[in-house]
Amino acid sequence: MIRTRFAPSPTGYLHIGGARTAIYDWLLAQQSGGKFILRIEDTDRNRFVPGSLDDIKESLQWLGLDWGEGPEVGGDFGPYFQSERLEIYHRYAQQLIDEGKAYYCYCTPERLQQVRQAQEGAKEQVGYDRHCRDGSPEAQEGMKRVIRFKTPLTGKTIVKDLLRGDLEFENSILEDLVLIKSDGFPTYHFANVIDDHFMKVTHVLRGEEWLPSTPIHVLLYQAFGWEHPEFVHLSIFLSPDGKGKLSKRHGATSVKEYRELGYLPEALFNFLLLLGWNPGNDQEVISKEEAIKMFSLARVNASPVRFATDKLNWYNGVYIRNLEPQDLARRCLPFLQKGGLLPDPCPAERFEYLVQLMPLVQERLKLLTDISGWIDFFLQEEIPVPARELLIPKKSDAATALKVLNTLLETIEGIPAAFQTADLEAALHPLPEKMGLKMGDVFMPLRVAVSGKTATPGMYEMLQALGKERVLRRIKAAIAILQ
Ligand code: GLU
Repeated sequence: MIRTRFAPSPTGYLHIGGARTAIYDWLLAQQSGGKFILRIEDTDRNRFVPGSLDDIKESLQWLGLDWGEGPEVGGDFGPYFQSERLEIYHRYAQQLIDEGKAYYCYCTPERLQQVRQAQEGAKEQVGYDRHCRDGSPEAQEGMKRVIRFKTPLTGKTIVKDLLRGDLEFENSILEDLVLIKSDGFPTYHFANVIDDHFMKVTHVLRGEEWLPSTPIHVLLYQAFGWEHPEFVHLSIFLSPDGKGKLSKRHGATSVKEYRELGYLPEALFNFLLLLGWNPGNDQEVISKEEAIKMFSLARVNASPVRFATDKLNWYNGVYIRNLEPQDLARRCLPFLQKGGLLPDPCPAERFEYLVQLMPLVQERLKLLTDISGWIDFFLQEEIPVPARELLIPKKSDAATALKVLNTLLETIEGIPAAFQTADLEAALHPLPEKMGLKMGDVFMPLRVAVSGKTATPGMYEMLQALGKERVLRRIKAAIAILQ
C-alpha cells in the first residue's frame, strides 16, 4: 500500500511548490487506496510563524487535499507533530550513540565559527572538522552539547531517485550532521528519517532542494538497518518569463494569495498538476477524479518548469464557465461581502438575485475578484451619477445623447413591468434605425446611464435584471446631467 506524506514546516504560508508536492502525494495515495499523511515538522522553534499552521491546513483543505492521517484526524502512527515526538528521537539517537554511530559534540558556536573562518581563509571546503568525533576533550558535566552522526569517511552513497535515476555521492564530502540540537530538538534530517520509517512512508516526494541532503538520510537508514522509502525530488518552478527561479517578485507564491486573488481551487489544482506532470496526450482540462486515474510518477518530469500565469488565468476562466450559477454565486459571495456590496449573512432573496446575475457575467469573469466591477450596479439601489463625457459617445454630441435618452425613457415606460428580455428587445432594437442613428449612439448612453460603465453584460439581460423602476430612475438622472 502506498503511503505518502506531506511534511511542511510551519514557517510560512503554504507555498505553491509545496501545494504541487501535496497534490502528487495525494493523487498517489488516492489512486492506490493508500494513505496521504500530513506531518508537521515543527522542530525549528526560531523560524515558527504564527498562523502558518492554520494556513497550511486551510489551504490544503481548500484545494481538496484531505489527509487520512495527521493533525485533527489522528491515525495509528502519531503523534503527527514532530514537537510531540521528542522522546522517540532521543531514543534512536541514543541507540546510534550506543552503537558508536553517533557522538556527542561539545563545540561552542564560537569555535565552529572560528573553524569556518579558517577554512574560508584557506579556501578549503567548509564544514564541521569532526573535533569531537573520537571523544571530546572539552566534555564536562552540564556543558551544552549536540549529537552528531558519524558519517563514513570513505566510500560512496547512492541515492535512487525515481525521476533522476541513481545519483552517486562521495561520502568524504558529506558532513557529520547534527541529529539532536542543543535545545533537545532533532534536526530536520534526523526527524524526517525516523518519522518516515515509523510512519511507514513508502514514497517521499519533495522539492529538489533536499536532494543534496538525501545521501545522509540514506546513510542514516543504513545505520539503523532500515529500508528507505522511494525518493522523488520534484523540479523547481521557473518565473513566468522562464528566465530564473520563481520568486516573490514575480507575484503571488502562496496558495492563500491565489485564493484571495480570486482563483478557483479547481483551476489551481489543474494548473499545478500539469506543472511537472503530463498525461501523455494533449488533454489540458483534467478534473480531480480524472487525475486520480491518470496520474503516474513515470510521467513526472525532472526538469524545471515555467510557472505560466497566463495559463493559470485561462484555467480559471474555464472552471468559472463550468460552474452552475448557484455555485458560482456562492463563491463570489465572500468577495462581494468584503467589498460591502452584500450583507453578511446574506438574506436568501438577495442571494437568489445574485444567482440570477451569474449567467450575465460568467463568460466574462476571469477572477472572482473581478465580480464587484461587473455587478456592483445591480446590487446597489443608487449608483453615482455618470460623468457627462461618458454619456456622450465619441462621434455624437450632447443634444443627440439627450434626445436619445428621452426617446428611450418614453419607449421603456411603455414596456410591460415584467420587463422580459423579448419585450425589451422588440421595443429597443428598432430604435437606432428609426432615429437614423448608429447602434452605439443609442445604446452607449443607455448603457452608461443605467450602469455607470461603458462595458457591461448584454443589454437586454442587464435591463431585465435591473428592473423597470431602477432603469427609468437612472435614465432620468442621466437626462438631468445632460440638460
Ligand atoms: N519540512 C520540510 C519542508 O518544509 C519537508 C521536506 C521533506 O518533505 O522531506 O520542506
